[in-house]
Amino acid sequence: MKILVAVKRVIDYNVRVRVRADGSGVETANVKFSMNPFDEIALEEAVRLKESGAATEVIAVSIGPVQAQETLRSALAMGADRAILIQTDEAVEPLAVAKLLAAVARRESVELAILGKQAIDDDANQTGQMLAALLDWPQGTFASKLSIENGHAIVTREIDGGLETIRLALPALITTDLRLNTPRYASLPNIMKAKKKPLEVLTQAELGVDITPRLVTLKVEEPPKRKAGVKVADAAQLFDKLKHEAKVI
Ligand code: AMP
Repeated sequence: MKILVAVKRVIDYNVRVRVRADGSGVETANVKFSMNPFDEIALEEAVRLKESGAATEVIAVSIGPVQAQETLRSALAMGADRAILIQTDEAVEPLAVAKLLAAVARRESVELAILGKQAIDDDANQTGQMLAALLDWPQGTFASKLSIENGHAIVTREIDGGLETIRLALPALITTDLRLNTPRYASLPNIMKAKKKPLEVLTQAELGVDITPRLVTLKVEEPPKRKAGVKVADAAQLFDKLKHEAKVI
């Protein structure tokens, strides 16, 4: 069983994101980028399936600029066997990403695709669901547990009020939630080995996919600044402020 794992290069989660002065987007110059955290979880799960003998090959795929090769090298250092970059400098919307991933999934005859539940830059939470629809595969979203048994994926999902366990016939699509696993750190020898693993670079034209955007970003703005708090002397004063100033009771 071949597994496709989608890994997106995003602004590192520790960076304080700043909006560009003209409101057209966020500042990306001189900012640290890394692998989307949910995709690290997806990759870890795929590598564990390979280590357990349930999978034969793990292919990491990224869509983005040439710098996304660094993200793919990290994926190779964590244990992916090979990588594919679909190189573009355009902003690629979830539907276009899903179409590109579907083309790779068909070309590589993968039986399982594991994606993050969302990319932490745009917070879309759309690509996995769209990919499953395009491939006409069953989907197990927000997985907190995954196993492969007799040609099926058994997926536990965290839902309101409990855990839901579903069985999907392969080929299938999974998106990862935070509690699925704790991704490993790449060891130095594996980082060295990753430099020699295959990394193929393709264009959207080679895959026959049109990535023309369908949305126009009108503006991006900073969240409103929080006002400084005040200390109240006692419960009576708190009640008074809530009633007369905040007018919430
Ligand atoms: P989103 O729907 O944008 O929140 O992204 C959900 C998941 O889709 C991510 O966690 C990735 O696994 C995958 N994905 C989205 N955009 C890309 C991209 N440009 N390259 C690779 N994978 C992506």
